[in-house]
Amino acid sequence: MSEINKEYNVADFFGCNVFSDKVMRERLPRDVYRAVRKTKKLGCPLAPEIAGAVAHAMKEWAIEKGATHYTHWFQPMTGVTAEKHDAFLNPAERGGILLEFSGKELVKGEADASSFPSGGLRSTFEARGYTAWDPTSNAFVKDGSLYIPTAFTSYTGETLDKKTPLLRSMEVLSEQALRILRLFGNTSATRVTTTVGPEQEYFLIDKKYYDAREDLVITGRTLFGAKPPKGQELEDHYYGNIKQRVSDYMKDLDEELWKLGVYAKTKHNEVAPAQHELAPVFTNTNIAADHNQLTMEIMKKVAVKHGLYCLLHEKPFAGVNGSGKHNNWSMSSNDGQNLLDPGDDPQDNLQFLTFLCAIIKGVHEYASLLRLSAASAGNDHRLGANEAPPAIVSMFIGTELQGVIDALEVGEKYRSTDDKTFEIGVDVLPDFPKDTTDRNRTSPFAFTGNKFEFRMLGSADSISCTNTIINTIVAEELSQIADELEGSTDFKHDLKKLLARIITEHKAIIYNGNGYSDEWLEEAVNVRKLPNLVSTPDALPEYITPKSVALFEKFKVYTEAELNARTEVLLENYSKVLNIEALTMIDMVKKQILPAVLSYTKEICDTGSSKNAMGISSVVEKELASKLSALTEGIYKETAALEEKVIAAQDMENGLSMARYYRDVVFTQMQTLRAIVDETETNVSAKAWPLPAYTTLLFSV
Ligand code: ADP
Ligand code: MG
Repeated sequence: MSEINKEYNVADFFGCNVFSDKVMRERLPRDVYRAVRKTKKLGCPLAPEIAGAVAHAMKEWAIEKGATHYTHWFQPMTGVTAEKHDAFLNPAERGGILLEFSGKELVKGEADASSFPSGGLRSTFEARGYTAWDPTSNAFVKDGSLYIPTAFTSYTGETLDKKTPLLRSMEVLSEQALRILRLFGNTSATRVTTTVGPEQEYFLIDKKYYDAREDLVITGRTLFGAKPPKGQELEDHYYGNIKQRVSDYMKDLDEELWKLGVYAKTKHNEVAPAQHELAPVFTNTNIAADHNQLTMEIMKKVAVKHGLYCLLHEKPFAGVNGSGKHNNWSMSSNDGQNLLDPGDDPQDNLQFLTFLCAIIKGVHEYASLLRLSAASAGNDHRLGANEAPPAIVSMFIGTELQGVIDALEVGEKYRSTDDKTFEIGVDVLPDFPKDTTDRNRTSPFAFTGNKFEFRMLGSADSISCTNTIINTIVAEELSQIADELEGSTDFKHDLKKLLARIITEHKAIIYNGNGYSDEWLEEAVNVRKLPNLVSTPDALPEYITPKSVALFEKFKVYTEAELNARTEVLLENYSKVLNIEALTMIDMVKKQILPAVLSYTKEICDTGSSKNAMGISSVVEKELASKLSALTEGIYKETAALEEKVIAAQDMENGLSMARYYRDVVFTQMQTLRAIVDETETNVSAKAWPLPAYTTLLFSV
């Protein structure tokens, strides 16, 4: 209860573990500070003496914060972050030590990265890669180490990580968006930044039950588990009262994130029992990506302190809503405009509609790439599974904006929902609702008043890949518009004509109805011809189509070799995940489930025999034992079949055909085995069942 009197002011500790702009201003000589601020671009070389001065200040600051080590922190293609820690320590004379950290060590790190997936890139080019400081994302201290955000590249320049392409895509988007702003007479903006606020969903369960389940420990999801009698059908959890233990966790989590400069803002319960969400305030996309990685890591760490476990898997529980990550995306110029805000004069409205049409065209033309950016073995359980957006990408813009677009297409005045008329480009258009009344939660790509929300991402995904793709496709469409209009002598007239054409050609991507319905699936695929890439092996080859290669090479975001490498890494990852899951199932059946069912059956038989000996009827025992015996046989048979199928996979060539094999053969067999084990669970006493049940997992916190 001492909490009540404690002076508690977030402003006192927010960002206290971050080597922020404020810290740099205080600690760096003025010319050094200015030089660092100028280094906005990755790879823009810092003069050695500048780097040396920054490194020195960083080290002194980090040591004051208790750091003994430093690490170049990067995001390899696998999606999680990687780090290798070196102590500042260096031997000095007479057995003493010196704490040192040079400019060279700050700027560039040798990553003996041969064990990171490279999709063949490093072997084709050069054996080693290096990490390079990304001065646009702040260094921070965590667990006794100074963390330096870095990009990871091979010595010949191929990217081996997720940060480099993201930064490149932000650059190209900025260049192309500025061309559009210039067409509208804007001479003040010199940079356009993409902004992202990723909403993060997660499950919290009791650590002791987590530890008791091999499937959760090894794969992050339950591979077995009968449905609980109560799921989410009462819808009493969403925005519900937060339990004390969870609330304590959330408070602690917020504090840890705030210390690291992460703007954690919103927290609430989600739809499924034991499911929650955290949303930060949006920020520059590169920083949002770094912060989201940190958030996921800290979520797990803090949970353990509270005797909890945080599950970030997309589908920890069958039959219960999975977890996603909503990527709220917009663009803003450094003269203070959100380019997806309709604005309050006719000129702004027209500019907004130009950006909007570019996005409509981009999403329509590159829907497959967006779909691909959310493809993973875990997310395959969500997309298209009647709870998350379907695997088909479409856009929602709402009724009011739809009306504006329709009017623009035919060159007529717009009549608003409250019956007023507006001439586009002449009058100020009405506000488009930002509140939840006009929300469509079933759309994968929804306009929400001043930003787009991409809802396909899985909870465990990095947001980098998605945003690299969104930025690049929007840059492409903006460049096409600028190419066409830069020589125009009647800008407004030509622009309206061009926008009308874009709407006619690309409105098939807009769908304001229920994205979960069967009618939509039918219409999207058969009438509108939108791609329906149901699984990861369907989606991944879209990376390396000629159209995709041309797009990314045009803007130097990825080379063809880099795209090939990424596809290879992701396909391999997919097969590996399914392989591990299958092996875990086999292990659990043999070591835990079968033995448990066998001894339970014996217990029943023993009871039956004792009853018989006493002349009491043992019909129930007999029936139950026979039933369990049949189920046992089934489990035994299906496990053997799964084993055989997994072994057969070893002979396959890595890549697409192997991924398809895992999906069609191994995964199908896993489901068959699961069904029979789950049926068995419902026929075995809770005491005899070797795994904590769904009800225990979902309702015990
Ligand atoms: P909801 O759950 O209703 O969709 P939340 O408040 O949970 O809304 O999340 C909305 C997210 O969108 C927040 O992270 C917020 O910071 C972010 N956001 C708001 N404006 C922008 C913007 N201009 N660019 C990017 N993200 C934004
Ligand atoms: Mg939310």
